[in-house]
Amino acid sequence: MNLKHLSNQDLTSKLKLLVQEERRLNLELLHHLKEIEIRRLHLQLGYSSLFDYLTREFSYSEDAAYQRISAMRLLRDLPQVEKKIESGELSLTAACKIQKYLQIEKKSEKALALVQALELIDSLAGKSTRQVEKELADRNPIVEIHERARAVGPDQIELKMIISEETNIKLQRLKNLLSHKKPKMSYVELLGQMADLALEKWDKAKQRNVSGGAPQKPALGKALSRSLQRHVWQQAQGRCQYRHPQSKKTCGSQFQLQIDHIHPRFHGGSNGKDNLQLLCAQHNRFKGVDLI
Ligand SMILES: [Zn+2]
Repeated sequence: MNLKHLSNQDLTSKLKLLVQEERRLNLELLHHLKEIEIRRLHLQLGYSSLFDYLTREFSYSEDAAYQRISAMRLLRDLPQVEKKIESGELSLTAACKIQKYLQIEKKSEKALALVQALELIDSLAGKSTRQVEKELADRNPIVEIHERARAVGPDQIELKMIISEETNIKLQRLKNLLSHKKPKMSYVELLGQMADLALEKWDKAKQRNVSGGAPQKPALGKALSRSLQRHVWQQAQGRCQYRHPQSKKTCGSQFQLQIDHIHPRFHGGSNGKDNLQLLCAQHNRFKGVDLI
């Protein structure tokens, strides 16, 4: 695209129109995302979550996906923000921060009443993202705490988090306990050792009860022998086997896995190997609702 022929005034006028169009499109995108979540289309298409859908299908960065999903949920919970997002008074980033703040308050049982939430949004509308962040952090500092992992090399991940003083004391105690083996152990080495120990403990537990912490179908799970459960787990290589019938896209999630009867027990399905598969909790629930 060559814009050299445009006058300065035409260039800035066109840019203004494009920004307005971008905001309108952003709002439209949020509405589409909301409808996809309502229909749970992302699950049907073979993704374990909306986040998984946006990052894998559309190559959004983790931050961009998180921002859009949070802004969509603010719009879903408070449709009154629609005009503010469309006019640009609320950026996607600001909407995301506000949603995060409202959810934190809700979790700590200090949920804002509708009127208070709308007053807060009115007071933040038109302010810069930095100012919105600051005002929300003044209300509750937890809102500023980010926890994230991002790739910084072919086999290196940067892990960023804020830990409590209590956890820090525990880590220091562990370092002291291991100091006879490694006098100057770094956090990286400590984390590596802790991960090895935890996997040794919990992977074995998984082999005894592969359906994980909160099995959805305990009664049926109990009917399966340990060796059969292990077989299913190994066949699936520890990943969700949900596959979209048309695109053949497989979920592959390793989160909250459960053994599922392909043909349900209550419809006469057997406990045979060929009738068992590993599903993530989301796809197990999705399949369950589909069958009712
Ligand atoms: Zn899945």
